[in-house]
Amino acid sequence: MYHSISDDRSNLSVSVNNFERQIQYLYTSGFKTIQFNSIDEKIKKPLIITFDDGYKDNLINALPILKKYNFTSICFVVSDLIGKSNIWDKNNSNYVYKELLSKNDIKVCLDNGMFIGSHGKSHRSLIELNTDEIIREIKISKTVLENIIGNKIDCFSYPFGSVTKLSANLVNKSYHFAVSTMRSRFDTNKHKNYFIPRVHMSNNLNRFKLFMKIKTFYEDIKYNEKQLHM
Ligand SMILES: [Zn+2]
Repeated sequence: MYHSISDDRSNLSVSVNNFERQIQYLYTSGFKTIQFNSIDEKIKKPLIITFDDGYKDNLINALPILKKYNFTSICFVVSDLIGKSNIWDKNNSNYVYKELLSKNDIKVCLDNGMFIGSHGKSHRSLIELNTDEIIREIKISKTVLENIIGNKIDCFSYPFGSVTKLSANLVNKSYHFAVSTMRSRFDTNKHKNYFIPRVHMSNNLNRFKLFMKIKTFYEDIKYNEKQLHM
């Protein structure tokens, strides 16, 4: 799980050099990128690279590196904020302005092996909304994005990683797959397709930490997802 790939030193960013180092490590370790619809298949060293929020730097900084190593990825976009900025973070003390992908950027991403998923309509936390509002976040974002890409949107990323049983059930009615911010590697027998855990990729990962991220199966660290602000 990545967010922004940038040298802006924001706490959501992995620097361009560190990103390339990590991708190169994954490449030389023999990982192969797959799509969510192959998640249950028996593939050797499968990998799904995800980006939350739809930052423009995913296209400018991450995509050329991913192409270099022949990796695909998926970017989770906020449908109301296409071509705008990360306003949901504006009141944070450590806020850094970041531009988001435009409609045209999304098309360029698609043409270059980056798939698109929904990160909701407005990046509101689903646990703070009533049923009707949750349904709007889930369904309107799906329709808007499907109209842009001219194809099905099948994957959802819970804004802030916040999930309740109700929101997970509603997401499950519209999408085949949904990713959380729970820290773990995916295990078909253990995890549901509408609550897929992810491995957090941070800026400062030395080779040992990278090795551990890949080799350790379950981290299952309990933490307050809202505080982490993913
Ligand atoms: Zn987000």
